[in-house]
Parts: sequence; structure tokens; C-alpha cells
Amino acid sequence: TQSSRIKVAIRCRPLIEHDFLSKNYSEYGKEEIISVEQDKSKVIVMDMENHYHSVYDAAFDQKSSQSDIFKFVSPQIKQIFDSKNCTIFAYGQTGSGKTYTMFGKTKPQRRIETESMSSDNDETGITPRAINYIFDFINSIDQEYAVHLSFIQIYNEKIYDCLQDAHNVKPLKVREDKITGTYIEGLSEFSVNSMDACQALMNRGEKNRITRQTKANIHSSRSHSVVQIMVETKSEDSAGMIQKAKLSFCDLAGSEKLDKDSSNEKYLKELKTINLSLTTLGKVISALAKNHMKKITKSKTHNSRPFREYVPYRESNLTRILKDSLGGNTNSCLIATVSPTVDCAEESISTLKFANRAKLVMTKVRKNNFSAT
Ligand code: ADP
Repeated sequence: TQSSRIKVAIRCRPLIEHDFLSKNYSEYGKEEIISVEQDKSKVIVMDMENHYHSVYDAAFDQKSSQSDIFKFVSPQIKQIFDSKNCTIFAYGQTGSGKTYTMFGKTKPQRRIETESMSSDNDETGITPRAINYIFDFINSIDQEYAVHLSFIQIYNEKIYDCLQDAHNVKPLKVREDKITGTYIEGLSEFSVNSMDACQALMNRGEKNRITRQTKANIHSSRSHSVVQIMVETKSEDSAGMIQKAKLSFCDLAGSEKLDKDSSNEKYLKELKTINLSLTTLGKVISALAKNHMKKITKSKTHNSRPFREYVPYRESNLTRILKDSLGGNTNSCLIATVSPTVDCAEESISTLKFANRAKLVMTKVRKNNFSAT
């Protein structure tokens, strides 16, 4: 077993056409206040009222390309062929570029061209790039393998299978098993053997997700989506050992504060549970970070065993499902996305602070080996 820290990167998106179309558009509101020093992995927010800066494992500026981001996560992703799980999280305010980073361009949107624009125009996101990598690797080795894909959406603490018909709106339940751990009962896992097969399933899942959202009047920004790829390979040398690893891609709900002053009754009723998963994710990360700090203090002062913070994984479905990716057996990367403009300053600072806490979270990564017999 090897200890590994959650790798944390910030990505600041460029100005886009949409920034100038909003009702409340004002020149001042669109002033760019985020600067990124890529070589120092430093992000600085500076305007009249706010000043915040911090250093991360990496920081990507407005002109960073999708391939720059993939280079950051790929060392972790590649370890799935060493039977180590990997989870990539995208966290940030709605409209800051989570889906763009995870999947690529889903909505047509023109960037505002600046002289320092990235010249790399391939807008494919992390998930399809990772799947391509998996199949390229598998096809280059002479080994038996099986790959499965699943796709869920969590909204208001209910888990939906995006690969089942959207008209079938029955939510799924999380169960615990003493041997296999936490699992989602009745979740469909499709066997896939190519990038095209995965893409077709992801397109189907996305379509179902949107249909369900429209039917139930759900805002996409308030739900989490998780695509998981399970890879099983049969090792050549060690007498039929089966190696398993799971790759999870989490596009989290928008982290912005919800409007407590809204007059919409349904919205107010939902407010309590709607982002329970995201709030709990924050609490889990804070508790894990505090425990790590206590451990460091203890080793410096040789104190007796410090009181350990309770980690509330069980308080939400997202953290129950991803427990292993947070404090457990997984290499994890968090990409926190921010918009560059002054009108998002408060939310951007809150995202940067969340990412700062996540830097302190340690996971213990070991190989998943199972005997084939
Ligand atoms: P979120 O998932 O955080 O709500 P999106 O990924 O949908 O945000 O991004 C909002 C808009 O900004 C989309 O139209 C997207 O194409 C565009 N966008 C986001 N990040 C970038 C980027 N790095 N480069 C160019 N366009 C981007």
C-alpha cells in the first residue's frame, strides 16, 4: 500500500460569448480578475474588494488546452493498468467549464479570441481521451480483458441509471456488502470493446439524463453525473490472477450558493436536500484534511494519539458511492474550474478554498488483485 495525495489543479476558462449576453451584463462585471502563473502553479484573484492567492499541483490559465489538462491527469489514469483505481472530479460554479473539461464541447459557444489563445483546437475532454487511452493500451498487449461502463446521475439524493430508459424513473438504492463494499443495486453495466461503443453509451446516457431532467424539471447544474469504467485484465504471468480497476469521472453539481430568497416554493423545498451531496463532499474533505493535519502535528510534537475527526461519508449518496475515492483506495484528481470575471469573484474564491482543503487529503492506494479460481 502506498499513500497518495489527491492531486489538485485549477483551470480558469477564457471569456466566452455567453458572458456578454446575460441580462445583467455590464462592462465592469466582465473584467478579468483571475491571473494564473502556470510555471508556479499559482492562482491569484484580485479586484477592488478581493485578494486571494494559492498554489496547487497545477494551475491552467485561460489559454490552456484540453490536452494540457489530460497531461496532468494521465499519470493517475495510466495506473489503472497497475490495478489501481482512479477518480477524476470536476468541481466549480455552474458555467465555469466542468463539463467542457470532463467531456469536451457539448454546447456550441464561441470563445472571445485573444492574442494568446491556445493553438491546440482538439476540444475532446478528459473522459473520451481516457477511454481512447484504455483501448489503445489493451489493443497493444496480448492479454485477456473485459471493460464495462456505467453512467449514473444523482439528483436530490436520488440515484438514476442513465443507461436505463428515462421513462423508467425509479431511483436505485445504495447497498453495503461485507465483502465487495458499497454498490448500487440494479445498476446496468454494459460490456464495451471500443471507443465507439463507449461513446454510443455515453450519448445515450446523456440523452436520458436530459429527458429525465426535462420531465422532472431538474436543472442539470444541480445534479451530479458519474461515468464509471471497470477494467478487468487477466495477468499472463502470475497464474491467472485477475486484476481489476475502476476509473470514475465525476461531473459535480454547480458549487454556487443557492438563492435562499427565492420565492419559488418547490425550489425552497428542494433547497435542503438538493445539494446535500455537495455539502457532504465539502464536509468529508474538510474532516479528512483536518485528520491529516493532526497526524502531521502529532508526528512533530510526539503527542499521544490525537482525537480524530468523524468523516461523514454516510450522510450523502455521492460520498457513500465515492468513499473509496476520497479517503480510500484510489488515486484521485480534482480539477476545480473558475470563470475569469469579477462578477464570479466570490464563487471563484470559494472554489479555490475548497481546492485548497482537498490538497491535504491522503488516500492509500493498493492493487486490486483477485485469484481467478
Ligand atoms: P459547467 O459544466 O461548469 O456548467 P460548461 O462546461 O458547460 O460549464 O461551460 C460553460 C460554457 O463555457 C460552455 O459553452 C463551454 O463550451 C464553455 N467553456 C468552458 N470552458 C472552456 C474552455 N476552457 N475553453 C473554451 N470554452 C469553454
